[in-house]
Amino acid sequence: MSYAPAPLQLTDADLDVLNERFETASADSVIAWAVEAFGDGLVLTTSLSDALLVDLVLAVCPTVPVVFVDTGYHFPETLETLGEVRRRYHPQLVVVSSDAPALDLWRTDPDACCAQRKVQPLDTALAGRTAWFSGLRRADSAERADTPVLQRDRRGLVKINPIVTWSDEQAEAYSRRHRVVRNALLDQGYPSVGCWPCTRAVAPGEDRRAGRWAGQGKTECGLHL
Ligand code: SF4
Repeated sequence: MSYAPAPLQLTDADLDVLNERFETASADSVIAWAVEAFGDGLVLTTSLSDALLVDLVLAVCPTVPVVFVDTGYHFPETLETLGEVRRRYHPQLVVVSSDAPALDLWRTDPDACCAQRKVQPLDTALAGRTAWFSGLRRADSAERADTPVLQRDRRGLVKINPIVTWSDEQAEAYSRRHRVVRNALLDQGYPSVGCWPCTRAVAPGEDRRAGRWAGQGKTECGLHL
């Protein structure tokens, strides 16, 4: 797959038309379209709950940069997953982190902590880009149930969610079939893995993101708002 240099300019009306087309398209075809459309304006972001999106995207275009935001509060298992991803895929890895000291802001103001440790570093990683891949799925939570394949983010960039329509079963089946690198916490009751101070295991039948900021009335870190 070539890596076209010229980014495509898309209006919101264009996104609507494309979303209709991509609603039933395969993840591979959405990824291939994005690679051709955005060229080197494109990156992939992952929190490394697993490497499903990494596996899918790099199979289509191995040179798409992979962005990982290191908050300073990741579980050791997540950092081990990062090492596994390096060994398996040899990605063009971009690890970004906050310049501010980690003063455990999560204890008193988790929104400010996420803004400092996650959102600002991602802003830095996306500067000068035109589009980014995310692994959002509608099955993640009620808040994500209406997420389209293509979105305009608050920076004006196009966010591409190639697996947004995938069920948990589809994701599991793909992961097993392709032996996708997994975060060990997935098999320990953590279907969604975030920072250790703000993530607990979930009980059977609970929403897969119920363990994120549990009891705090917070459901998103701000990366996807
Ligand atoms: S998830 Fe928790 S520790 Fe991680 S950046 Fe957000 S508030 Fe801070």
